[in-house]
Amino acid sequence: MNGDGSLERLRREGRIVVVGASLAGLRAAETLREKGFAGSLTMVGDEPHEPYDRPPLSKQVLLGVTTADRTALPRRRDLDATWRLGVAATGLDMAARRVRLADGDEVPYDRLLIATGVRARPWPRPDEAELDGVFVLRTRDDSAALTRRLADGPRRVFVIGAGFTGSEIASACRERGIAVTVAERAAAPLVGALGGVVGAVAAELQREHGVDLRCAVMVTALEGDAAGRVRAAHLSDGSTVETDVVVVSLGATRNTEWLAGSGLGAGPRGIACDAGCRAFDIRGIVTDDIYVAGDVARSPHPLFGYQFLSLEHWGNAVCQAEIAAHNMLSESADRLPHMWVPAFWSSQFGVNIKSVGVPSMGTEILVAQGSLTDRRFVGVYGYQGRVIGAVAFDHARWLPFYQHLIETTAPFPPPFPLVDRRPDGQRPIDADFPDPSLPTHGPTVTLSGYSPADRRMTFTPAH
Ligand SMILES: Cc1cc2nc3c(=O)[nH]c(=O)nc-3n(C[C@H](O)[C@H](O)[C@H](O)COP(=O)(O)OP(=O)(O)OC[C@H]3O[C@@H](n4cnc5c(N)ncnc54)[C@H](O)[C@@H]3O)c2cc1C
Repeated sequence: MNGDGSLERLRREGRIVVVGASLAGLRAAETLREKGFAGSLTMVGDEPHEPYDRPPLSKQVLLGVTTADRTALPRRRDLDATWRLGVAATGLDMAARRVRLADGDEVPYDRLLIATGVRARPWPRPDEAELDGVFVLRTRDDSAALTRRLADGPRRVFVIGAGFTGSEIASACRERGIAVTVAERAAAPLVGALGGVVGAVAAELQREHGVDLRCAVMVTALEGDAAGRVRAAHLSDGSTVETDVVVVSLGATRNTEWLAGSGLGAGPRGIACDAGCRAFDIRGIVTDDIYVAGDVARSPHPLFGYQFLSLEHWGNAVCQAEIAAHNMLSESADRLPHMWVPAFWSSQFGVNIKSVGVPSMGTEILVAQGSLTDRRFVGVYGYQGRVIGAVAFDHARWLPFYQHLIETTAPFPPPFPLVDRRPDGQRPIDADFPDPSLPTHGPTVTLSGYSPADRRMTFTPAH
């Protein structure tokens, strides 16, 4: 217990407010109760639904295997919380320790967790974005509305952006027998996250499954008919694609606007926090009572040169929420750092794609196992002579091995003897990431300034 007993009082009768009632918010709240927090817990969420899971929204829901209203997250325990659902937090008074809500209420806190995540970036022209038949996909309601439209049997679906979400939507449409065109500004799908070498494999996969894939083009306009329904998309190469459904998959925007003017270090790249999940204020000084977790957070990671990582990864949201909750109730000597090794999965066109580490930091790639032509392989990414990430196409059982290489900052190319490496994996090649100053669709990790060159460090996960 700390000297003045304040931590003990917090545990017994303190007030904790969680803003953002989704994956990170729920898991943090459960952890608080697991760790013995007996005070009041308030969950503020702008969506009307109880916490639900997003990965199925672009996979099983679109395929009709389940429905959007059956995606509720399983509960680990009873929370005994006050739920303020369907009401957004609109402001934060850090000095008075109060969160303002859209309905005019103010909720006082002793500790605040911000887990407001991200939202889908809309089509930039509002009049075109409002056409009937133009969708984004981030929420349960988005997924339900798109699924209904797919069930109506559209002539063609037009997907803008071939990141993970756009590619999964295209995959689901093809599985349902719906004609699909995908337009991507980069040279191939998934290049922002995995680079051009793996992107070329993803492009082949899409075309083989009947996707009309148009790369290195931009959509210049969406056109509607007299009734306000979308009817065509115009592309920068002068072509026009007739369509009755458009899905805009242009990545995400962080939900931080409600913190404008609060004095917290929040902006378009997220909310900066220390490795213990405590938010920074705008002066770069760490706060003691405000914590951040999940997609909205940016935190430094020792494995990646202490540069700030923003991750749109399910596993990160869970891990960071648990660490934030633990640290909220701990003295400084007992706090834990959030040192989760990034990991992501996707399934599309019958292939299971998994990555560990930060592939997009890599400059080179080595196909360490399997073969690109078989579309069953492990690609290992290198940066300044060390292993920094790995991706598996239908080869996921090997990823723990590569995760270990990342954690131990193993040299690149990996020093182990050949296992089933084919001719295309004899030597590293340029991983072919696009110029980082150009926006790409679908990177799930955002990096900000780094020099992860230290190969002497051995990373030991905290738990
Ligand atoms: C379609 C889809 C597919 C995905 N597939 C995968 C996958 O295959 N693998 C993977 O690793 N990850 C995947 N993800 C990402 C994963 O779902 C996210 O990393 C995870 O949801 C992050 O959780 P979070 O709680 O941080 O944020 P979110 O889930 O975004 O939740 C934030 C919540 O806060 C609410 N909120 C925002 N502002 C306010 C406010 N001012 N007041 C109150 N509430 C507010 C939001 O409405 C939302 O409910 C996918 C995401 C989507 C959308």
